[in-house]
Amino acid sequence: MTKRVGLYPGTFDPLTMGHVDIIERAVKLVDELVIGVAINRDKGPLFNLDERVAMVEREMRLITSETGVAITVKPFEGLLVNFAESVGAGIVVRGLRAVSDFEYEFQMVGMNQALNDDIETVFLMADARYQSIASRLVKEIARLGGDVASFVPDNVAKLLAKKFSEPVI
Ligand code: ADP
Repeated sequence: MTKRVGLYPGTFDPLTMGHVDIIERAVKLVDELVIGVAINRDKGPLFNLDERVAMVEREMRLITSETGVAITVKPFEGLLVNFAESVGAGIVVRGLRAVSDFEYEFQMVGMNQALNDDIETVFLMADARYQSIASRLVKEIARLGGDVASFVPDNVAKLLAKKFSEPVI
């Protein structure tokens, strides 16, 4: 049987418990998962690409050792369908939060289907505890000195604290 390869793309600026929850669900559906970290210069990320790739890789070790599913983390730029094809992924995984994500994701699927109809997009919902978490708000809370411990993995909380304690040059 051919291997089912899934691709979970995102900006992961930073990785949150919402993302981790989606990844834990996605590995139940595929034999191999590629996490595509978008360069996303337009979004002006807080963490640079190398930092985001390292941050995601670190959290994936535990999931891989617990599930046996190979997870690779790769940076990407350009069209999602081209990247999916280049890594041999037939399934794109996206997380869906109530209302806010729908319109954008709906349009993306339509456009991606027009570009490559062999790739299916699958939407997963995170556990209710994590549904309201958004990277943008996590950054805002951390910047204002709030506690983000319940929204992100421990290591990410440390990295955020470090980022916001660095003097602005
Ligand atoms: P993008 O810039 O592609 O939206 P993100 O890193 O913000 O990148 O999100 C990656 C994916 O994870 C998207 O499909 C997004 O909807 C999903 N996601 C993010 N946070 C959550 C959450 N709390 N619950 C479920 N899905 C989420």
